[in-house]
Amino acid sequence: MQVIEEPALLTAWARSVRERGETIAFVPTMGFLHEGHLSLMREARKRGQHLVVSIFVNPLQFAPGEDLERYPQDLAGDAAKCREIGVDVLFLPSPDRLYPEGFQTRVQVGPLASGLCGASRDGHFSGVATVVLKLLNLVRPTTAVFGSKDYQQLQVIRRMVRDFDLDIEILGMPIVREPDGLAMSSRNAYLSPSERSQASVLQRALGEIQGWVDEGTRQADVLLSRLRGLVEEQPLARIDYITLVDAETLAPIDRVENRPILAALAVRFGTTRLIDNSLLRPGERDA
Ligand code: AMP
Repeated sequence: MQVIEEPALLTAWARSVRERGETIAFVPTMGFLHEGHLSLMREARKRGQHLVVSIFVNPLQFAPGEDLERYPQDLAGDAAKCREIGVDVLFLPSPDRLYPEGFQTRVQVGPLASGLCGASRDGHFSGVATVVLKLLNLVRPTTAVFGSKDYQQLQVIRRMVRDFDLDIEILGMPIVREPDGLAMSSRNAYLSPSERSQASVLQRALGEIQGWVDEGTRQADVLLSRLRGLVEEQPLARIDYITLVDAETLAPIDRVENRPILAALAVRFGTTRLIDNSLLRPGERDA
């Protein structure tokens, strides 16, 4: 496994791969790798002859007061996991290398980025789209793999790739969970034991909603108030948002109809903000 820190070296490596007619699959991450990341990397391993993984905690996507300075890190552990999976290039740029003095251009994202996490994380998705565009241009992969835990991020990136005519396949992978259902996240490391045990409510609550839909409840406000009730039973939970949206446009819905609907939430436990989501199947009575 090659470790590359310099963007120009990555570009040169990727060019030589392409000149040989070989393919590259790419997984961008912020590191502190867990099974969720590894599932993307294993899939990517099958999708290209060469696998590039990046670890970069992107300052552009953190608002002031968020956890940029304390984001967990374990470079040695991450490198060992990458080696085990068969990563060819681990790209570890520094912020100065990706954003040298004079850097000033950003991707302006559209309405997909304004609700859900975009409503409380100012500038977040513009920062995500900007770094992902830079990374895609450096690596020029045939396929890039993302997790649907960050569902809105995945939609924003798919949109950007279409809007900017990038010739790259974007692959979304399912959410990998802990045994109690909590979605794996590098940020789970922040949770105290009591926060950690209460956090499993998120997936339990998202699982209940499907049952209510199957029993015939279709009104979004009824479903959402039940969902809130479940989450609020946990004394340490502070809801940022809980919503039902059209899975394509991410616009809030009033009723669950026979089209893809996403239940999505962001909830704080102490200082840790967790997100999770679930795609609803249309109710059996509609079938
Ligand atoms: P991050 O390091 O948090 O920026 O995540 C890097 C990639 O891993 C993103 O595409 C995430 O959606 C994905 N990812 C993070 N957690 C999970 C998970 N539990 N299951 C699947 N993918 C995940």
